Amino acid sequence: MSEITRRDFVKGASLAPLAFRPSVLAQQTAQPDRFDIVVAGAGHNSLAATAYLAKAGYRCLVLEGRPIVGGGAKTAELTLRGFKHDTCSSTHIFIQANPMLRNNELNLGDYGLEYINPDPIYHTAFPDGGYITQWRDLDRTCAEFAKFSKKDALAFRRMYNEFQAVESLFNAVSFAPVGFGKSLNDRLAEHPKGKFWQRRLAMSYWDILRDNFEDDHCRAFMLLSPWGHQAPQNPMTGRAAYQVISQQSTGRPIPKGGSGKLTEALAHFIEAHGGVILTNKSVHRLIVENGKCAGVECTDGSSYRADKAVLSTIHIKQLVDMAPRELWGQDFIDGVDTWQGETTECNASYATTEPLRFPVEGGTLTPVHSSVLANSARALRFAYDYARSAVNMEDPPLSLICATVADPTRAPAGMHTIKVIGYQPYDLKEGPQHWDAIKEQVAESQLKYLRRFTPSLSDDKILARIVESPLDIERMNPHNWHGSCHAGSADPAQSGAMRPMPGWAQHRMPIPGLYQTGGTTHPGGSITGAPGRNAATVMLKDFGTSIDEVVQKKT
Ligand SMILES: Cc1cc2nc3c(=O)[nH]c(=O)nc-3n(C[C@H](O)[C@H](O)[C@H](O)COP(=O)(O)OP(=O)(O)OC[C@H]3O[C@@H](n4cnc5c(N)ncnc54)[C@H](O)[C@@H]3O)c2cc1C
Repeated sequence: MSEITRRDFVKGASLAPLAFRPSVLAQQTAQPDRFDIVVAGAGHNSLAATAYLAKAGYRCLVLEGRPIVGGGAKTAELTLRGFKHDTCSSTHIFIQANPMLRNNELNLGDYGLEYINPDPIYHTAFPDGGYITQWRDLDRTCAEFAKFSKKDALAFRRMYNEFQAVESLFNAVSFAPVGFGKSLNDRLAEHPKGKFWQRRLAMSYWDILRDNFEDDHCRAFMLLSPWGHQAPQNPMTGRAAYQVISQQSTGRPIPKGGSGKLTEALAHFIEAHGGVILTNKSVHRLIVENGKCAGVECTDGSSYRADKAVLSTIHIKQLVDMAPRELWGQDFIDGVDTWQGETTECNASYATTEPLRFPVEGGTLTPVHSSVLANSARALRFAYDYARSAVNMEDPPLSLICATVADPTRAPAGMHTIKVIGYQPYDLKEGPQHWDAIKEQVAESQLKYLRRFTPSLSDDKILARIVESPLDIERMNPHNWHGSCHAGSADPAQSGAMRPMPGWAQHRMPIPGLYQTGGTTHPGGSITGAPGRNAATVMLKDFGTSIDEVVQKKT
């Protein structure tokens, strides 16, 4: 990258974030007030929970440690003026099934939220020049598989139908708090294909893909989405074999204007319903009085009282140090001590004069979502690289996002934003601090590998870049503990009734009056809004009302 680019980048780094800013009036009037509910952290989950609580009529205060709200759903001019980059998440798949959006419970469209669902859905390029493109049209997607194997095209269609038959069961479990309604096992037991699915869920997703697909391009394509989450060989990961299948019907939607539009809309909703949001308010202590959580204290010395409850989206690894140890109980402390991080990322955001162009038969393709992957063996080796803290510079699996192809509002006319996501370990043999020394070199090697698939992305097309190592991802948001994009592993030991730990999965924490939401709670990280709506469901029940009543309330 040229010197000019580096200078531009430094200039760009000081540019303002684009997301929601609390109103000045709110900042001035908040101090002396008491609130019904004080919320620590302003990610999309705690904002979603607050939105329902504010709609119910409770006076809510949200305290966010960073200068702007949003957590993992934030958009900012990270490189140059006018280039709007998503700082973390870009793709909002799972939240589409949340009743909050599916049933339009909060009318977030009135607060500026609008989704674009790009076609093609996904494109993966392989080193031998082969590629598979997933289109919104199922027949067209199957034809892509058939290029390599007619049997695999049939397998894709078969698995699509298998998943369609039970998708509503999975959604019902995700979008309800643990213990509210039937468990997945009980639901499957009543389903005609329940036994088939019980076996499927207990298998590793590699076993399922290997059994169903014969061609390696097809197998590798099916492995793509879960790279960043679970090792394909692990038992009880079978559902991940259907990740690519599920996006056949949902697509991979992106908010118009950037990921931050979701949290911006929620924040506006909260303010419109009497809530107050304060930024640069890092919570460092829970106020406990008469055995009950009665408020929080911030690092700047300010404190805020909650008459009814405190809702936290602080990572459990940090939360546990914010009140005396004896208040948590040994089970909870054991659960925190054994909490595991997850696979992590080293990402580079580029401002460019070109989108990503992949050579395809008869020309080039410019998808929003794409990836490059050597083969299925590379994906299988991936978990091993993490286990031995090995950074991969030779053939790193890469996910790529060029949102401006479908959403030109994110860059100046004719320009583009590109995100290159490399899956690299947080822990290094030299320690995580070593990322500061190697991150530019790692980003450079990821770019070099990418150019084998998209040669048109030459230096002269790149205006600026910013690199975020797994360590930077943790620094920008303490909820990304040890670089975890989803707050921690989603393995069976940390899922369902075991998230965050056995006995404490219902959002109620061991200290009365304290509730927990966010990625450390069921059903975990990603942009789902599920931990947020589920936490609100539990809190509203405890307050003597219900989420259904609140949804129906005309406000
Ligand atoms: C690089 C990256 C890429 C990702 N891409 C995607 C994607 O494309 N699609 C997808 O679905 N998911 C993606 N994810 C995951 C997704 O962004 C997160 O799982 C999701 O944002 C978690 O939301 P949350 O509301 O639980 O918490 P967060 O979004 O993490 O928000 C927590 C908030 O609490 C604040 N906070 C923490 N501690 C304190 C404290 N002590 N005091 C005050 N405030 C505090 C933080 O500053 C933050 O604003 C990505 C994550 C990362 C990091």
